[in-house]
Amino acid sequence: MPKRVLVTGGAGFLGSHLCDRLVAEHCEVICLDNFFTGSRANVVHLLDNPLFELVRWDVNQPTIFEVDEVYHLACPASPIHYQRNPVRTIRTCVIGTLNMLELCREVHAKLLIASTSEVYGDPEVHPQLESYWGNVNPLGPRACYDEGKRCAESVASSFARQYSVPVRIARIFNTYGPRMSFDDGRVVSNFIVQSLRGEPITIYGDGQQTRSFCFAFDLIDGLVRLMDSELEAEPCNLGNPTERTIQELAEQVIEQTGSKAKLEFHPLPTDDPTRRRPDITRAREVLGWSPSVTLEEGLAQTIADFRERLHV
Ligand code: NAD
Ligand code: UDP
Repeated sequence: MPKRVLVTGGAGFLGSHLCDRLVAEHCEVICLDNFFTGSRANVVHLLDNPLFELVRWDVNQPTIFEVDEVYHLACPASPIHYQRNPVRTIRTCVIGTLNMLELCREVHAKLLIASTSEVYGDPEVHPQLESYWGNVNPLGPRACYDEGKRCAESVASSFARQYSVPVRIARIFNTYGPRMSFDDGRVVSNFIVQSLRGEPITIYGDGQQTRSFCFAFDLIDGLVRLMDSELEAEPCNLGNPTERTIQELAEQVIEQTGSKAKLEFHPLPTDDPTRRRPDITRAREVLGWSPSVTLEEGLAQTIADFRERLHV
């Protein structure tokens, strides 16, 4: 019998790639989304597939599906989107996760939650290991997401401890790839759109802050391996350990798009982390996972996708 899998946030950037992967593995996939930042366009190619079902639903409402596994990705991920309605973001992180845990408890399903490197805040330990508790401002504009995801992890580990719900916790670091929305506001999509349109490249701060960028297909492989692993209620970093400054990223995008766009410096948003790089020893050792796509290769695929959708 095929595995029955629920993917919340399945019409989003990562969720849609995950749906593709699971359908390709002959799973029966229910994709649940309220289209807050996701879109039907991301999964339209799956709609005629008998293994795939799209349901419009808000995870803040309790629901029940007879499934074996739940990948819980529903939550806005970009700072501009999660800060638009911070109360709703906290609700989605906490109540949405509680609802999915109750569902898993009821139908005896396994739950993977999409947590984030934001749980480390502006880290004082570098690179970030899962054992690091983080440095998060609980009152700042990013707190709705950072603390929301920290609470989601706490809720999930409590359900594992108290009710033996099988839980997997993925701490996802900055991931990019095809299907990111143009107005997503995250750095890779902004820089590609600006370069292709010949608009100024908006660098926040002096551009010396760092991030480590993982290509979407690599990340999805990590999520599936984590779900299949024995890593019970232990967080697992998933990301690419190659660290770049934001200015280096801008220059790389300009070069690969052949753009004449110029850099334009803007104020750094409040609480913007200074540096970020995952220590992926646990993922390597327990999941046998490490990313294989270089930034250059991943950007080439992402730029090609953006060119096609932007018609430039
Ligand atoms: P995304 O915004 O493209 O996808 C999120 C999806 O969740 C969207 O389709 C949105 O419509 C849906 N959604 C939001 N609130 C919902 C609700 N209340 N009910 C139902 N659906 C809802 O973002 P993404 O990059 O694909 O991120 C997916 C998950 O991965 C998120 O949980 C995010 O926190 C996590 N994550 C992503 C990254 C990254 O770099 N992409 C990094 C860390 C963590
Ligand atoms: N950033 C930037 N220009 C942009 C968008 C983002 O310089 O147009 C910076 C942002 O300030 C941060 C980094 O790029 O330092 C990554 O931002 P993103 O929103 O993609 O992810 P996060 O801050 O959540 O890691």
